[in-house]
Amino acid sequence: MQIHPSSSHFFDVIIVGAGPAGMMAAISSALRGAQVAILEQLDHPGVKLLATGGGRCNITNTLDDEEFMSRFGKNGRFMQPALSKMNSPRLRAFLAEHGVPTAAPDGFHVYPASNTSASVLHALWKLCAERNVKRWVGTEAKALTTRNESVAGLETSSGAIATRNVVLATGGKSYPDLGATGSGYNLAAHAGHTVTTLLPVLVPLVTRETWPRELSGVSLRHVHAWIDLPRRQKCSYIGDMLFTQTGVSGPAILDLSRDVIPLLKTHGDVPIRLDLQPETTAEQWNARFDEWQSAHGRKKVVTLLDQHLPSSLAGMILRLAGLAENVPAAWFSRRQRDAVLGLVTRLPLTVEGAGGFDNAMVTRGGIRLNEVEPKTLQSRKIRGLYFAGEILDLDGPCGGYNLQWAFSSGWLAGVNAAK
Ligand SMILES: Cc1cc2nc3c(=O)[nH]c(=O)nc-3n(C[C@H](O)[C@H](O)[C@H](O)COP(=O)(O)OP(=O)(O)OC[C@H]3O[C@@H](n4cnc5c(N)ncnc54)[C@H](O)[C@@H]3O)c2cc1C
Repeated sequence: MQIHPSSSHFFDVIIVGAGPAGMMAAISSALRGAQVAILEQLDHPGVKLLATGGGRCNITNTLDDEEFMSRFGKNGRFMQPALSKMNSPRLRAFLAEHGVPTAAPDGFHVYPASNTSASVLHALWKLCAERNVKRWVGTEAKALTTRNESVAGLETSSGAIATRNVVLATGGKSYPDLGATGSGYNLAAHAGHTVTTLLPVLVPLVTRETWPRELSGVSLRHVHAWIDLPRRQKCSYIGDMLFTQTGVSGPAILDLSRDVIPLLKTHGDVPIRLDLQPETTAEQWNARFDEWQSAHGRKKVVTLLDQHLPSSLAGMILRLAGLAENVPAAWFSRRQRDAVLGLVTRLPLTVEGAGGFDNAMVTRGGIRLNEVEPKTLQSRKIRGLYFAGEILDLDGPCGGYNLQWAFSSGWLAGVNAAK
């Protein structure tokens, strides 16, 4: 592919970044009759999209728009105009219309019915082609050219292109191997935009305790994880989790990381707690212990606890409670029972660090929202400059939130850039 800078290349709209946000922007712009080009620095489009949801692509979820926005925190309302054009039901209908029916097997997480992210990518990239979008891969946007506070063109690794509208859909800084190099922040900053503090979120947590590494690979379903600090009661999530070589991970922990990361900066370390079986109350655990003692006194406590927790974790809980593994239930003292109860319902861990951008699923921070018009996603500083996707200062939890935002914002930015 060659771009000839000074010659015939004029496009109504140029999209930078062929991720979910960029491809949606290209499609919605082209559908409105604009001459559109999309640039992707990698040799293939949608490389991160392919990796999403463990290759299954958790596209969105089934929450209504109000609930959906509330999970993004105080900035969530910014998404309202974009969701009003392309929310979860509309996205699902759009994808189905273009050959990608979706399903929500658990009633919440929405995936392509094919269970492969490749089906989503192929449909979007094909739609770009069908709508005559010029698709340039292996081409990096280097600088934005502006004149009189308006977009005039784009410098790329293959030359300059003239245009009046650019959509920056370059993603964040997380997983740089998948294209998120953060270059879009520099392009925007040079054009006068503010980039808020960037932090890796949805990231595994590193614990001071070393015992989790002995359980590395052990996973638990449906755990309750929360931050054990005053006035942080809302920082609490239920979901699956995993012990790792350095601490803890899995959806509940990744969600908790969104609250833990900023606190690490101010507190140095952050105490968290885990209820290993939130559906079992303390009274029910005590009733279990009573039954073990009355009906199974000769069985080992560890064997009985094994029935409720993975066996390596059951053994670890007893060690942390100071019990020998061969203690029979008949000898399970009141003090030991209380210690085990405390550990299964409020297991303490101290977070002293977290993974970096290399293994964060999302970037917190980005283009300051009050510099962008939410109804159009156009810059308030440079006419003809639009933003879509993770580059903006919005990040959601695990569960299809971030992709839905990429699709919705891409759609809205594309529609307006084409006007
Ligand atoms: C492993 C993993 C799994 C995930 N799973 C899910 C999930 O299941 N559900 C969910 O909702 N979210 C998930 N996410 C988050 C989600 O993938 C992102 O939020 C989403 O991809 C952001 O879309 P985007 O289009 O804004 O950016 P990206 O998908 O990052 O796309 C940006 C594109 O721009 C290109 N680019 C950057 N700079 C330039 C430049 N200067 N010139 C040209 N091209 C450029 C990049 O190469 C990239 O292809 C996951 C993230 C990761 C890392």
